Amino acid sequence: MNAALASDSDSYGGGAAAGGRVLTPGLDVSHKTILYLQDISVSFDGFKALNNLSLDIDNGELRCIIGPNGAGKTTMMDVITGKTRPDSGSVFFGQTIDLTKFTEAEIAHAGIGRKFQKPTVFEQHSVFENLELAMKTDKRVRFSLTARLDSAQRDRIAETLALIQLAGEADRPAGLLSHGQKQWLEIGMLLMQEPRLLLLDEPVAGMTDEETERTGELCTTLAGKHSVIVVEHDMDFVAGIARKVTVLHEGSVLAEGSMAQVQNDPRVIEVYLGR
Ligand code: ADP
Ligand code: MG
Repeated sequence: MNAALASDSDSYGGGAAAGGRVLTPGLDVSHKTILYLQDISVSFDGFKALNNLSLDIDNGELRCIIGPNGAGKTTMMDVITGKTRPDSGSVFFGQTIDLTKFTEAEIAHAGIGRKFQKPTVFEQHSVFENLELAMKTDKRVRFSLTARLDSAQRDRIAETLALIQLAGEADRPAGLLSHGQKQWLEIGMLLMQEPRLLLLDEPVAGMTDEETERTGELCTTLAGKHSVIVVEHDMDFVAGIARKVTVLHEGSVLAEGSMAQVQNDPRVIEVYLGR
């Protein structure tokens, strides 16, 4: 665990004495699993986008999800975040919270952050202000828009700026950032809400090689404190960060294992190359 992350949890919320703050009170990860998808099916006009999909993510895990276009990757994220209701199946966040019973806003507040492909930063505001605004939508932080930040809040923003490698750009309008920097800023904005689970849909699309590499470092740094699910087409990127990889195909899990295991799986080779 890196020092910035450790001091982040210490400086905020006052739980340090008890060994770190509970990010989502009541989230029971005693069985090591933070997310369970069980037999999820979603149909669009009779077409099964997800077909009895079952998947488990460990607390603190970094999971990469790959699969051809139309495999159901985005639909899976839509189900986890409450945007799409499954026709059948359940989605458990920890042992006790059935996400299919909650709204999108409730799921976000429960500690699941999602980054969409297109960054949605406030272009006219500075990088610092973007992080500040993201913190102010955190329901646990009570203060008005005009209130001054206290030192703990400033520290949290500074730590996040360092983590997303934008400390040198803090005062620049976000609209002047490169495409890759905007993506990191958006990840930083999600982090200001201290999500337990982060969902990143194609985070390196359109990035330069160097930005892609830095994004990989960020993903591996975030794992541990957060659980991270990365959906990505860029195989070099996935190979660089992968621990466990899940291959989706036609709405179900086709293969799961290390990058080497799934790359050598004949069924995976068939769906990627056999068309
Ligand atoms: P992926 O992200 O893996 O490329 P998606 O989850 O976006 O796949 O899509 C899975 C399948 O479901 C595709 O065939 C897609 O056309 C279909 N689909 C996704 N969303 C909708 C929708 N809102 N209405 C109809 N079909 C949809
Ligand atoms: Mg998609």
